[in-house]
Amino acid sequence: MDCIFCKIAKGEIPSIKVFENENFFAVNDINPKAKIHILIIPKEHIESIKHLQDSHKNLIGEMFLAAQKIAKGKNLQGYKLVINVGREGGQLVDHLHLHLLSGEVDPLKV
Ligand code: AMP
Ligand code: ZN
Repeated sequence: MDCIFCKIAKGEIPSIKVFENENFFAVNDINPKAKIHILIIPKEHIESIKHLQDSHKNLIGEMFLAAQKIAKGKNLQGYKLVINVGREGGQLVDHLHLHLLSGEVDPLKV
């Protein structure tokens, strides 16, 4: 499948993973919209929030806990979590991901 995040997950595209566990990995966004801009990405290919199923309930909880863990690890006092859904929602990569932003966050940019 021609999915950039699946390729990163499989190591087919080299990346620096700032976090990894059984179900997720996280990388710095290649085009950061804040001082800290990290993408939390499930290893499973799920296109978007529109494609979630009941079986993904735990995974979605884990995604936010991963974000919390990364933020704690970086001692962030505040941050913004964003999920874009579909083109009209600003989604450019059709593999679910959670944006974690902190520092000079421009609310209009992500
Ligand atoms: P979205 O618009 O929500 O789909 O966000 C996709 C994000 O992925 C954008 O902020 C891009 O800058 C980022 N991005 C695209 N390709 C890469 C890559 N190879 N490594 C890291 N971030 C990427
Ligand atoms: Zn994918």
